[in-house]
Amino acid sequence: MDTSSSCPSTMSSSRHPWKKSSRSKPVSSLSLPLEGKSSKEGAWFDVHSILQHRVNETGEGEVEVSFKGFSSSNNEWLDPHASLRLQSKPCDESDCVLVLLGDLVLCFQETRNQSLHFDAEVVGVKRRRHDVRGCRCRFLVKFYHDGTQHCVPLGKISRRPETESRAHVSEQKRQTTEDEKSKVVFRHHPTPRPTVRSPAAGAPADPASRAAGFRSDARVMT
Ligand SMILES: [Zn+2]
Repeated sequence: MDTSSSCPSTMSSSRHPWKKSSRSKPVSSLSLPLEGKSSKEGAWFDVHSILQHRVNETGEGEVEVSFKGFSSSNNEWLDPHASLRLQSKPCDESDCVLVLLGDLVLCFQETRNQSLHFDAEVVGVKRRRHDVRGCRCRFLVKFYHDGTQHCVPLGKISRRPETESRAHVSEQKRQTTEDEKSKVVFRHHPTPRPTVRSPAAGAPADPASRAAGFRSDARVMT
């Protein structure tokens, strides 16, 4: 999150003297990383902690959150259902294939006045061959808050956790492909299996030599 840009709005509790929780310690220590949507710009910020909760004048629950990198004057009361969610994951090069047309993503928008993370939909994808510079693909995103479209590199996109299952599927496919490749190599260059010699007829089996043979097998198999 860009902490140098404009800050989340402050909703002073004195302006909203509704029922408040008496708890002074954070309600949640955030075992899961969360992000919260500021009511001021509609941008998402990483949540540092949930401080307290209350029921507002319309009978709905709210939580007061502090944002990472911002002072307490920027704390906000948020609707936990609409404005609080698991943190989005910044994309690295390997995430490129996981960003698909129609995805909801969190995207960094830079304008003359502010640079913030907003919800956006991927409305176009232009794939390019990756090289030493990494991912060179371009993604056309449409921001929900202002309807503008921007062509952005992967580095400005964060994936929603809902797409994480794709990463697991992709990893399984990659693993399967590597296994298949290793099988092909094995077929072309079969490792000779050591011959297990039977003790001579009538001769007592030697446990030590059997153990030595097993260790030898282990070396061959590795
Ligand atoms: Zn790419």
